[in-house]
Amino acid sequence: MGDNRTPVTVIGLGDMGAALAGAFLAQGRQVTVWNRTAAKADALAARGALRAGTVGDAVAASPLVVVCVLDHGVVEDVLGPVSGALAGRTVVNLTNGTPEQARKAAAWADEHGIGYLDGGIMAVPPGIGTPGAFILYSGPRELFDAHREALSALGRPEYAGTDPGAAALQDLALLTGMYGMLSGVVQALALVRSAGFGPVDFATAKLVPWLGAMAAAVPHYAGQIESGDYTQGVVSRLAMQAAGLENIFRAHEDQGVSTELLAPLRALVARRLAEGHGAEDFPGVAELLGGGGATAGR
Ligand code: NDP
Repeated sequence: MGDNRTPVTVIGLGDMGAALAGAFLAQGRQVTVWNRTAAKADALAARGALRAGTVGDAVAASPLVVVCVLDHGVVEDVLGPVSGALAGRTVVNLTNGTPEQARKAAAWADEHGIGYLDGGIMAVPPGIGTPGAFILYSGPRELFDAHREALSALGRPEYAGTDPGAAALQDLALLTGMYGMLSGVVQALALVRSAGFGPVDFATAKLVPWLGAMAAAVPHYAGQIESGDYTQGVVSRLAMQAAGLENIFRAHEDQGVSTELLAPLRALVARRLAEGHGAEDFPGVAELLGGGGATAGR
């Protein structure tokens, strides 16, 4: 198992599932596909994929079954009735979900003698199989190693840990970082638009280089959060940043741009200042978010 001859079944041919199946085909594997709406298999069948008429036939065709559907509820609905046929095979569930959902799915698989890896896809469908794509996996290390070569067709495989929930947790953390950035981006572009500047020119010439420069400081901030010491290497004191944040607020109000995305940040910074941390660095607000006692890499 795990060599380049291992047949693969892909269940779910939405935008993402179709991209996954296409990447396995490009790798030269036998690929069997199933989707609730059968017509979505047409393009893949034209490229050589085998269509299965039922989920049971689909899982019987391959030792490795990749499932990528809307959510974990759909995974349960689709795979639940074929647990017997799945026994002895490996399910790689690339459906987005929470760590608890991943652990529940892993326990279900264990009960039925099914190998289970949970995964988080860090790419959009056109990025699947390209160098920028990576996919997080969690579950038994030996299953990951056994299927690593096949899974590398989709993007760089990154092992997150034995806890089945580890990939989902890291996936959601990465998406959290992305949404933080995108929130700032839409807020900044709304502000420049309100003043008559073109968002595209501003984004290209100024915002993207600025965010790139700021991203370089993320490991330094991560180090402060890891140590819980926000007093080392401070070049922008929180009290100074709070004053700047007030100016950001006032400028938005003057321009008639809503501050609702910024308001929770202002509140957290004000609380941290009130607790006497004005000389420390910005990431100290993490102390107000809780969750500091978890065990790393459980
Ligand atoms: P789509 O909405 O394009 O596809 C959803 C899939 O789920 C289809 O195959 C659909 O079948 C199937 N489905 C939904 N409800 C049911 C049901 N009740 N019974 C059987 N099948 C059902 O979503 P994507 O392909 O984009 O996303 C799939 C997963 O991949 C999600 O968990 C998503 O979070 C994750 N993902 C997606 C990314 C993206 O950018 N697209 C990026 C990273 C992760 P049918 O065709 O019959 O409707």
